[in-house]
Amino acid sequence: MKIAILSRNSRLYSTRRLVEAGEERGHEVQIFDTLKCYMDIATMRPLVHYKGETLEGFDAVIPRIGASITNYGLAVLRQFEMMGTFPLNESVALGRARDKLRSLQLLARKGVGLPVTGFANYVENTNNLIELVGGAPLVVKLLTGTHGKGVVLAETKKAAESVINAFRDLSADFLVQEFIEEAGGADIRAFVIGDKVVAAMKRQAKEGEFRSNLHRGGTATLVKLSPAERATALKAAHTIGLSVAGVDVLRSNRGPVVMEVNASPGLEGIERATDKDVAGMIIQYIEKNARPSRTRTRGKG
Ligand code: ADP
Ligand code: MG
Repeated sequence: MKIAILSRNSRLYSTRRLVEAGEERGHEVQIFDTLKCYMDIATMRPLVHYKGETLEGFDAVIPRIGASITNYGLAVLRQFEMMGTFPLNESVALGRARDKLRSLQLLARKGVGLPVTGFANYVENTNNLIELVGGAPLVVKLLTGTHGKGVVLAETKKAAESVINAFRDLSADFLVQEFIEEAGGADIRAFVIGDKVVAAMKRQAKEGEFRSNLHRGGTATLVKLSPAERATALKAAHTIGLSVAGVDVLRSNRGPVVMEVNASPGLEGIERATDKDVAGMIIQYIEKNARPSRTRTRGKG
């Protein structure tokens, strides 16, 4: 097969592993810098161009699109879909995953366990928002943050008020969330491919920290998931419409609650923690499922 990878940086671990796994299995794999792809829109024959050539004849496209270029990346992916190229994750699903509020609303509608979460653009009384999620301690999160930056634990009501008011004065979009204290600074990353959780790791925050992000000094170890945790991760990925996803789950007293569904989950942490060939499993998924025009949405919706 001919497989295209949309990635800005060919040296990234995940990108390199996907190329390696594809080539190992006898495929032709090419990396294209998402921002260097350009398109002709107003024609009957949609095409993606790259350095003066047209990117035709690809059986599948793997989007590895960074959060900072989501919109342009989605446009490129949609164009591939309109050409009939099979996307590992569809543009519509990717768009949903990148909108944290929309994702949480979709998950809530399907009954997936979530931390109690409040969102407001303007609240006359900050207290109302604090009460909505059950009072302090609570977590305030910037919607644009990654790697745990912008995630603040407010232990008292006073602290919560100050953080919320400060974020509001900065006109930052944020949500307020019940603090799942019993998770003990750990979360679980379940790596979903198709209808299976193929690998899972537990990330534990370093001493004195509640955020388990590896970028914040957290450590990852192999973990065995309970049936409820597996079911929750699968339901979350499928609700968003993702074939491949990294679902982040907290172990709460009332069972697994989903924090986040990542549409371009990194491979380095999960492959190192579990010693599994996740990249190879992604390529196998493509082998089984890639058929021309087998996109449910073809960029619609
Ligand atoms: P980011 O997208 O920046 O990684 P997350 O929402 O994943 O932000 O939060 C970062 C980390 O903070 C999580 O991995 C988890 O360890 C911790 N955390 C986030 N929300 C909560 C919460 N509601 N209760 C307990 N811990 C949380
Ligand atoms: Mg996270």
